[in-house]
Parts: sequence; C-alpha cells; structure tokens
Amino acid sequence: MNHVSDEDLIAYAQEALEASLSASIEQRLREEEPLRLRLQELLHNHDQGTMTISEIWRHEQLSCPSRSDWGLYVMQAIESQYADYMQFHLKTVGCIYCQATYDELRQLAEQYDQQDSSAARRERLFESSAIFLNSRTANE
Ligand SMILES: [Zn+2]
Repeated sequence: MNHVSDEDLIAYAQEALEASLSASIEQRLREEEPLRLRLQELLHNHDQGTMTISEIWRHEQLSCPSRSDWGLYVMQAIESQYADYMQFHLKTVGCIYCQATYDELRQLAEQYDQQDSSAARRERLFESSAIFLNSRTANE
C-alpha cells in the first residue's frame, strides 16, 4: 500500500477498517510524520456534527500506547519514532486516559528522582507499570 486516502484515514480513526489494513495504517502513522499531519488536519476539519472523530477516537481509546510504553516515554527510553507517535497521541488526539497515565508516571519519576539513584528509579517505575498491567489482566 503506497497511498493512504483521506477516506482510509477517517475510516481508520472510526475503527471501520478491516484489522490488517488498520494495522498497516497504524504502523505508517507511527513512522510517517506527513501522514500524522494529514490525519490531524482531517480530524480538525471534521469537528462538526454530534460526535467528532477525535471524540470517537478518545472515547474508544484507539491506538493507546500501553502504560509501560508511557513509563519508557517518561524515562526517554523509547525509540524516537514511536515517541513522536506518542506525543501526537497526547497533544493532537488529546487522549485524556493517556494524559492521566503520563502525568502520574511523570510525578512518580520526579519523586523517585529526589529519593533514588537513576537505576533504582527506573526499576521502581517499571514495577509500578508492571503491577498495573498485572492487576488489569487479572480483572479481565
Ligand atoms: Zn490514549
């Protein structure tokens, strides 16, 4: 797939694509900044009607990075292309769930920063991410 149409991008944001196509667009959004900008513009232009695409996106928590990914993001230990995508998700999509996770992990990181060496800090941040993941899995 060389060209992603606007319709495909909108269908992607509405989760209306078949899984394999959706996955390939998601992959390309992570890697290609021009595509992210185009989606950003599309989302902006479609801010009409009862429920905007960005609201649907937020509502469905589409493409949310995991909590452990946000842990890595806070520690600046994540590969830069994915970090760009995560920033897009946070700033442009305005995902309130990820914003909350990000704020919490950043606060934790600051606390540990005052108490511990950086190695111990990273370990604890990983632990708190892992505990959350485990408890979430157990509840399902
Ligand atoms: Zn999110």
